[in-house]
Amino acid sequence: MTRVIAICNQKGGVGKTTAAINLSTYLAALGKKVLLIDFDPQANATSGFGINPKELNDTIYQGIFGYASLENLIKKTIISNHHLIPANQHLAGALVELVPMEEREFYLKKFIDRLRPEYDYIFIDLPPSLSLLTVNGLVASDEILMPIQCEYYGLEGLSQLLETIDLINVNLNRDIKIAGALLTMYNKRERLSREVAVEVRRHFPHYVFEAEIPRCVSLAEAPSFGKPIILYNPNSSGALAYERLAREIIERE
Ligand code: ATP
Ligand code: MG
Repeated sequence: MTRVIAICNQKGGVGKTTAAINLSTYLAALGKKVLLIDFDPQANATSGFGINPKELNDTIYQGIFGYASLENLIKKTIISNHHLIPANQHLAGALVELVPMEEREFYLKKFIDRLRPEYDYIFIDLPPSLSLLTVNGLVASDEILMPIQCEYYGLEGLSQLLETIDLINVNLNRDIKIAGALLTMYNKRERLSREVAVEVRRHFPHYVFEAEIPRCVSLAEAPSFGKPIILYNPNSSGALAYERLAREIIERE
């Protein structure tokens, strides 16, 4: 059965897009059919595959409003079994355009539900906010993966996100599960980083993935080469961690 997983944390720069790119590509490398949807006007998941967002006519913005065909929207990436629906800055306009619409929280869900039969996994990379875009991403998902940065304030805002998901489940009649929290930018030589990791494992009220993503320069460099880590530096600590995470997710299917 298809799993639609949003990668969400309203805090900025915690490793959402890095997780979206690298987890989705490792799952494809392990034989799964995977689609990654960039649902952030910053379009970092798009540029992370070497695509210039500014040159695109057909993006997820056109997709949710029905202005583009699926053939024009879905891009094959350099990884086999792996597809991408890109975004660009136009998506920011949807924030305003959706407001007066009926069922405005369901635009992305309606779009994605048509694609489910084609894929084992559909990932949604979300922006750092709890805006209507993020709500569309949550509503469209079966599960949420929450990257948590192993730094001071790393846990801030998580209870608000969990509450938002509860509110959506009750008021919009959904049954969204928490796939788990993912510890990112972990540095085992720093006491603070170790303490945050222990804190999350002790207090996070849902599953915490065993795989921990270390701070790793190659993970930060790869997007500027338009490559996921599996192609840029597959022997790096970051690559091995994302491969472990992909295997853990498959084991928990
Ligand atoms: P935003 O909220 O703006 O969408 P984000 O949560 O998607 O940000 P990323 O873009 O994935 O976060 O990461 C933020 C920055 O940290 C990027 O420059 C990225 O390359 C870098 N980064 C992410 N994960 C790691 C890591 N494990 N080690 C080193 N650098 C990392
Ligand atoms: Mg991002």
